[in-house]
Amino acid sequence: MPAIEIRNIKKRYKTLQALKGIDLSIEEGEFFGLLGPNGAGKTTLISILAGLARADEGEAFVLGHNVVTDFRAARQVLGVVPQELVFDPFFTVRETLQIQSGYYGLKRNDDWIDEVMANLDLTEKANVNTRALSGGMKRRLLVAQALVHRPPVIVLDEPTAGVDVELRQGLWKFIARLNREGHTVVLTTHYLEEAEQLCDRIAMLRRGEVVALDNKHAMLQRFSSAQLLLRLA
Ligand code: ATP
Repeated sequence: MPAIEIRNIKKRYKTLQALKGIDLSIEEGEFFGLLGPNGAGKTTLISILAGLARADEGEAFVLGHNVVTDFRAARQVLGVVPQELVFDPFFTVRETLQIQSGYYGLKRNDDWIDEVMANLDLTEKANVNTRALSGGMKRRLLVAQALVHRPPVIVLDEPTAGVDVELRQGLWKFIARLNREGHTVVLTTHYLEEAEQLCDRIAMLRRGEVVALDNKHAMLQRFSSAQLLLRLA
């Protein structure tokens, strides 16, 4: 069974056809890259997978669970790291993760929360209010939030946007480890080097369509880095 199955997904915002019939099948254990320029439709596709937006047509499944008709089951097996850094500013890092656990009906999740915080170098900030975190720390907290219910499938929407090189490398290492441990990972990015380092297969999205899809090596051979960057620009 594929980890993610997307069939003919279409989405229109007023006059703009944001997704024009996307088909994708991502295998369990795969590290999949979704590349594309601003406005290609990456976030829209992820929002549909996460049940935050409705497709006009088509269907999407996470580990066989329909994201609309079987929403709860689909959310249990999916962890989404959104692009926006939005937290309740008056809760601490630990409280934020406890609240997120509560959404999933998880009690006594503190050991796992400690482990996630330690892996993301957040332990020192456990009792700090989220409003006092730097942008990079907030990015880490977003990743931690997506992992509190131990989802086998993780989707990260530009997790390293606007973070410094050191943190970016740290996040890459951590995400790569999750993948090695068996998690399926889908990553959207503008950084070619990120996709190059991490992904098994890459799909390139442009104006709501998948314009190329292949394993990383074939993609990099097919488009020289410069061309690929141009296409991403
Ligand atoms: P980026 O790399 O900038 O994050 P993206 O590939 O994630 O871009 P989307 O955010 O999915 O692209 O946007 C796809 C298109 O849909 C864009 O033209 C965007 O302006 C439009 N769009 C997205 N959300 C909405 C919305 N809620 N209402 C109207 N238009 C929207």
